[in-house]
Amino acid sequence: MNDIRIIDTHCHLDFNELKTRLDEVIKDAKINNVTDMVTISTNLSRIDTIKEISEHYKEIFFTVGVHPNEAHKDKQYDDHHFIENYSKHEKCVGIGEGGLDYYYNMENMKLQKRSLEVQINVARSTNLPMIIHSREADDDMIEILEAEYKNGPFKAILHCFSSGEELAYCGLDLDFFISFSGILTFNSAKNIQKIAKNIPLSKILVETDSPYLAPSPVRGSVNEPKNCMHTAQFLSKLRNVNFLELSKILYDNSLTVYDKIKLWKDK
Ligand SMILES: [Zn+2]
Repeated sequence: MNDIRIIDTHCHLDFNELKTRLDEVIKDAKINNVTDMVTISTNLSRIDTIKEISEHYKEIFFTVGVHPNEAHKDKQYDDHHFIENYSKHEKCVGIGEGGLDYYYNMENMKLQKRSLEVQINVARSTNLPMIIHSREADDDMIEILEAEYKNGPFKAILHCFSSGEELAYCGLDLDFFISFSGILTFNSAKNIQKIAKNIPLSKILVETDSPYLAPSPVRGSVNEPKNCMHTAQFLSKLRNVNFLELSKILYDNSLTVYDKIKLWKDK
């Protein structure tokens, strides 16, 4: 019997590279023991599409929120009421991805911050995890997370972790989870590997962030949820934990943070 089960905790199945051949993408994921996927919202104008995908496939769950690079393009970037209402859907399991991205876009910094704070407020009031995107913005991110946490605790995932140690340990202090994408497997990612080697296994998740960031050895191709296995296998070697044991830990962590998936499965 094959006991290995991995959840791809962050992918973008509504993006054209994947959406146009979803049946195949999901079949290949399952062949590779990726049993469930969370497709992540980036712009609320596409939220109905994401919801419909997750209603069509039992293995797919979704989040509601606004990506920092979309904040200036999304009329509802700070619509607390809309996000909160949408999150009541039985397969909506998280808020985001929201955050700060100064790599692509510094002109909309204010909108990014406002959108992030609104989404954190919704995460707090719904007790759903906030999916955090942070790129080239660690100092501001730490300041916002610590300030918001003082307003009242909330759950969060630092997704596609590619920041420095300071943000990692700030996240752990706030009891957040840290999610590693294919970047972890890149030769250039020594600092990220060091963090992944040292933080508690109980706080680690894996994701693809597909269609981007395909892990080694398929780096450069269109990424898909099935490739989550490569990142998990890399982590198993990095941590020197046998793969079956690690996959169980990762699976349990995924259901701990996305507790609505667990509720759905227990039904
Ligand atoms: Zn993403």
